[in-house]
Amino acid sequence: MNTQIIKIDQQNIDKEAIKEASRWIQKKELVAFPTETVYGLGADGLDPEASAKIYAAKGRPSDNPLILHISDIEQLTPLVREIPNAAVKAMRAFWPGPMTMILNKSDIVPFETTGGLSTVAVRMPNHPIALALISESGCPIAAPSANASGRPSPTRAEHVYEDMNGKIPCILDGGMVGIGIESTIIDFSGDTPMILRPGFITKERLEEVIGEPVGIDPAVLNMKKMDGIAPKAPGMKYRHYAPKAKMILVSGREQSVISYINEKTEEAHRDHKKVGVIGTDETIPMYKADVVLSIGTSSSDRTIAHFLYDVLRTFDHEEVDMIYSQVFESGEHGFAIMNRLMKAAGYDRVEV
Ligand code: AMP
Ligand code: MG
Repeated sequence: MNTQIIKIDQQNIDKEAIKEASRWIQKKELVAFPTETVYGLGADGLDPEASAKIYAAKGRPSDNPLILHISDIEQLTPLVREIPNAAVKAMRAFWPGPMTMILNKSDIVPFETTGGLSTVAVRMPNHPIALALISESGCPIAAPSANASGRPSPTRAEHVYEDMNGKIPCILDGGMVGIGIESTIIDFSGDTPMILRPGFITKERLEEVIGEPVGIDPAVLNMKKMDGIAPKAPGMKYRHYAPKAKMILVSGREQSVISYINEKTEEAHRDHKKVGVIGTDETIPMYKADVVLSIGTSSSDRTIAHFLYDVLRTFDHEEVDMIYSQVFESGEHGFAIMNRLMKAAGYDRVEV
């Protein structure tokens, strides 16, 4: 299959380009498109065969459900059985935006889209290209991140092309995304709202808006290899976000972390291994590894979220044998960043 890349300016959206992409959706084909979080791989979310194509293109396990993207609040009602009060408050505050709600699904949502679950995930993205595509297509668009299953999520159209070239007919290239990590997933189908995947919108902000306590799925809090705890978001159990090389996280006092990583680099060099390091703008001059990348500035966790996946993919191009990374726990988004980084490292972390 030939993969067409359509460049599109989000400040000045070309309606013809959106029409062209939406024709693929209407023909039950796949279109990759930018959202404010990461690039999505979209298809008609109410069509079982279209959804099945997403799983095939990504190599995604069939029990890992998709998120339905809508462009208008009115599109939500037919998809779900009921909308609890807490969900209404959250939706008013955070949509369009990086918040995905889990609700009991209605009959029109096929089990192919929900990975066999009786609940459905819904989000309204805050990106003019995504909203234009959904509204022109005339259906909710099921879209997981547009990476091959297991790889870091795409934050640029080039990342999508790396993983999806020849597998999908169309990529809408709207440049680099803004946020860089996936939406917060909150389950409103039970008695207490529960965060199933941490994201850009924090527990504290949700509690403020909803006015009641919000829980966190125990599997998310368990920052170790999962020992028999099944996460409620099925996708969270898979190895994910991972670069090709083995990655080890190193935490402790900054000077100790730098010395430890430099010692490990020397050891690896004796074995003729190529080493990558993830540091910050402030620390990268201090490392001796072959490829030293800054993930952002330690004074802004937003920059760290923004560049996380981009940095992981760069190491694949550089063909390093191993990667050492500092940890980035501070700031409002530290929890979500560490959730992704721990998975990417296969929970390998040393304290020095
Ligand atoms: P992605 O779009 O690649 O970010 O993946 C979507 C995430 O949402 C995966 O971790 C899914 O397991 C999760 N998800 C989607 N639908 C549901 C649902 N009905 N219940 C729980 N988790 C869900
Ligand atoms: Mg994903």
